[in-house]
Amino acid sequence: NRQIHLDNRPKGEASASNFKLVTAETPALADGQVLVRHHFLSLDPYMRGRMNESKSYAQPQPLGQVMQGGTVGEVVESRSPKFAAGDKVVGMGGWQEYSVVDADQVGMLRKVDTTHVPLSHYLGAVGMPGVTAWYGLVKIIDPKPGQTVMVSAASGAVGTAFGALAKARGCRVVGIAGGPDKCKYVVEEIGFDACIDYRGKDAYALSKEIAQAAPDGVDGLFENVGGVCLDAVMLRMNAFARIALCGMIAGYDGQPVPMTYPQLLLVNRVRLEGFIVSEHMEVWPQALQELGQLVGSGKFRPRESVAQGLESAPEAFLGLLKGRNFGKQLVKLV
Ligand code: NDP
Repeated sequence: NRQIHLDNRPKGEASASNFKLVTAETPALADGQVLVRHHFLSLDPYMRGRMNESKSYAQPQPLGQVMQGGTVGEVVESRSPKFAAGDKVVGMGGWQEYSVVDADQVGMLRKVDTTHVPLSHYLGAVGMPGVTAWYGLVKIIDPKPGQTVMVSAASGAVGTAFGALAKARGCRVVGIAGGPDKCKYVVEEIGFDACIDYRGKDAYALSKEIAQAAPDGVDGLFENVGGVCLDAVMLRMNAFARIALCGMIAGYDGQPVPMTYPQLLLVNRVRLEGFIVSEHMEVWPQALQELGQLVGSGKFRPRESVAQGLESAPEAFLGLLKGRNFGKQLVKLV
């Protein structure tokens, strides 16, 4: 069983030398356990925070152990009545080829139906990133049809799910993304009304483009990036706008992400709320059902960036932090 461990913690920017490829024996199954062969690993921005020593909202990733993370795969051996060989499952198997899972541990392993939804999408649009978009849209922004909502990192796993869900609710949806290809994709393939390329622009220049794309102002913002992107939208916020603060990826490698116009929160009576999707398990079934329908019916066709082979995981992960992914970043093992 090949695995990738966190070998040492980054000083400043994360690098490939923080990780180590290790080969380990797969332990024999005890009663109640199942052996899962991973088909895809999920790479997610939150993993960067966990590589640091300091506790954020999640515990740090322990050194010398398998990098933790979401996985989808197939049960190859079972000593639990709850799972049979051949079941397709989603779990938290980590950066390795196989995992041994206690089937009774709540939330560790879930069977999924791949009739209408491809297995890999359970790590993206019909998984944690999709639910994240749903929570911020429905529970925090709660837009009325016709209102304008914006999202940064628009072409990513969370951003595209947000766009698809907001369009289904009759909103005007404007994205912010890095580069013309990503912008074109969210407009033409996902159905965004407009998308603005933020690269090489300051907040003031960006806000002028936002004024054109959102002529009635912005009622809701789903923020994934922070810094210039957040500043620019803040300059176009309507009174009583809502900001769902989901991520600040511009600062994950330790860069400062100052907020330049906090006074606009007061002037416009804006409500800003941060949230962590794993603390809202009560919405997951409802959100996953809606996302499953959107994807299963073909109305929402999410895009994936797929790296090949376990050894490609570190580089693909570092690429995700630099915007080199285009859609949900996965590693394909089988
Ligand atoms: P994405 O698929 O969106 O990939 C990350 C994207 O972020 C990149 O493609 C890039 O897009 C953008 N990006 C990277 N670095 C920068 C930078 N310095 N400045 C601006 N943009 C950058 O990832 P996810 O959809 O998985 O996650 C999106 C956000 O949601 C992240 O901030 C993540 O931490 C957050 N999140 C929060 C959760 C919660 O519970 N609060 C749960 C899940 C995710 P581009 O090229 O367009 O810049």
